[in-house]
Amino acid sequence: MRILVTGGSGFIGSHLCEHFIEQGHDVICIDNFFTGSKNNIRHLIDHWNFELVRHDVSEPIMLEVDQIYNFACPASPVHYQYNPVKTIKTSVMGTINMLGMAKRVNARLMQASTSEVYGDPKVHPQTEDYWGNVNPIGIRSCYDEGKRVSETLMMDYYRQNKVDIKIIRIFNTYGPRMALNDGRVVSNFIVQALQNKDITIYGEGLQTRSFQYVDDLVDGAIKMMQAEDFIGPVNIGNPNEFTIKALAEKVIDLTGAKSKIIHKPLPADDPTQRQPDISLAKEKLNWQPTILLEEGLKKTIPFFEEELKKNKIT
Ligand code: NAD
Ligand code: UDP
Repeated sequence: MRILVTGGSGFIGSHLCEHFIEQGHDVICIDNFFTGSKNNIRHLIDHWNFELVRHDVSEPIMLEVDQIYNFACPASPVHYQYNPVKTIKTSVMGTINMLGMAKRVNARLMQASTSEVYGDPKVHPQTEDYWGNVNPIGIRSCYDEGKRVSETLMMDYYRQNKVDIKIIRIFNTYGPRMALNDGRVVSNFIVQALQNKDITIYGEGLQTRSFQYVDDLVDGAIKMMQAEDFIGPVNIGNPNEFTIKALAEKVIDLTGAKSKIIHKPLPADDPTQRQPDISLAKEKLNWQPTILLEEGLKKTIPFFEEELKKNKIT
């Protein structure tokens, strides 16, 4: 198959590209390198079945493909808030452009949506039929509302034009190839711990997240892409829920760091709790995550050790 991965040089996108190359598919990776890095796909460049295109998904592009994984969008609050207008354009125009392509060439299109569509959820754990509690005018809305509109667009192209769509709502995912400066909690804590620097907890650290290792996500996304007669949306996440304080303690423990925990102000609209209900994924995709947090952290820490060495940061 010819598979297009947008955002293919980013954290998750690069794992998807790698997987499809190993499977012998033709892979086209498009990326504008805002948060992605050529280093993430350096090992794929020499493969005959890999093509890299520098392109911004908010602009149209003509390609002939069988499947599209639309993953282009900055995902860390630090990065998506850097240029919020660009972030929402990426979600809205990017999804329209990919839907246009899918419609023209009859491709199957997966949209990477997010648990952020549930905002600061009043329903716990979150099921797909919950409509969410999102501030439409806050600092996270360029991302949250952008992804909500992308879901709307997917559904309208499906109803109006019968485009072959798949929507996954991804919950906090971590693993190797997150950027050192990504700014999300798992990479921040590991990078801080490896340098024996203070671990920065925003607020009290009693807010919760449920962390999924990237291999589980790739497996879930592919199972969803292959499913027939099921368009989603479907939650893809690990239901094991932790406070941010517990995560900090685990990272200190696993790295043996001498870091101390410090507290910084909690950013506006930071969700207080988050945990996926994955009953639908279990039922429709026969999927559930298999990698526990501790195991995933043990696979991720050595990656950041290497990155710090490569970048001569001690
Ligand atoms: P990332 O920032 O590492 O990757 C995003 C990639 O998209 C980068 O390579 C970036 O350069 C590229 N990109 C951004 N804007 C672009 C544009 N306009 N045109 C072309 N390329 C562009 O983030 P990630 O964690 O790998 O996230 C990938 C996707 O998964 C995103 O759509 C994100 O919203 C979604 N997602 C991720 C998580 C998570 O926890 N990692 C959770 C929910 C949803
Ligand atoms: N967080 C933190 N310290 C950090 C980075 C993040 O305490 O250095 C907190 C953040 O306020 C949030 C949680 O960790 O409550 C998860 O943040 P992240 O940016 O990883 O993901 P999101 O909030 O988008 O789920």
